[in-house]
Amino acid sequence: MTDFERCVLRLPATAAPALMVVIDTEEEFDWSRPFARSGYSLEALAELGRAQELFEEFGIVPVYAVDYPVADNPDRTEALRGWVAAGRAVLAAQLHGWVTPPFDEPVSRTNSYQGNLPPALERAKLEALVARVTDSFGIQPVIHKAGRYGIGPATPGIIADLGFEIDLSICPSFDGRRDGGPDHTRYLADPFRFGPGGRLLELPSTAGYCGMLSPIGNPLHGVVASAPLERARLKAAFSRLGLLERIRLSPEGHPLSDLKRLTRKLLVNGTRVLTFSFHSPSLRPGCTPYVKDESDRARLLRTCRDYFQFFRDELGGRFATPLEVRDALS
Ligand SMILES: [Zn+2]
Repeated sequence: MTDFERCVLRLPATAAPALMVVIDTEEEFDWSRPFARSGYSLEALAELGRAQELFEEFGIVPVYAVDYPVADNPDRTEALRGWVAAGRAVLAAQLHGWVTPPFDEPVSRTNSYQGNLPPALERAKLEALVARVTDSFGIQPVIHKAGRYGIGPATPGIIADLGFEIDLSICPSFDGRRDGGPDHTRYLADPFRFGPGGRLLELPSTAGYCGMLSPIGNPLHGVVASAPLERARLKAAFSRLGLLERIRLSPEGHPLSDLKRLTRKLLVNGTRVLTFSFHSPSLRPGCTPYVKDESDRARLLRTCRDYFQFFRDELGGRFATPLEVRDALS
């Protein structure tokens, strides 16, 4: 992906800010253990209704970015299929390569980023994902999200071939290089066109830097990340001093005050399209590092509610699907 900065798309400065809500809808696995082909569970899918109910209170039509194990277990997704069929939710396809056939690669952290796979294998996994999602939900997905933000050089061509129109794989401020993954720190918060003939629309996850050093946050983060011994200590110190904090627009690990701060900063900078996201396993206590018990879950849902209220009432924002955002941008 090159030349993205030239193709940045923005709503007019006078337009109401638009918020998309994206749920990475996936299996539960132990995030602290090596990736594995098996041993996951799908219990948290039964909890999706808690979130959907909250979204509907605000008139939000969320995006469920389902991966292969979710699509492969239609008995677990009856409610979700109903919401999608009724236009109360939108479907996206998310690739977790390590649990998506064909299983031709060694399982490793590097190979968990689809962009590191041989292009023919990345394509074969994406084909399997599209076929399973289409079969299970009766809808061919047009929105793609790379698991772990792992988009690679071959991804745009492949997803354009497979009929995708919108991509959600970029997370500005994400730097996976230590883990063999991509570096997204040079991307801006705004949507842009890319891929063959500019046919694809990128709607990035919303993330960025706050704090006194944030104007130089991305390059500085690169420097800090490149000094392995001091990295963790420096980052912790910077963040403790309020100098530089990396914030994702997500109730996972961030209090409402962080989310408001990041949002205000992006709006001042002219960004009008934002994405709020979290992982479906966070809806079930014990499935992600962010939600260990009932009170964590209550807090997560409260943060969602308070943020949606803030976005609508204090900022005069509106909620939109990626397809609506695409129409507004063109
Ligand atoms: Zn994922």
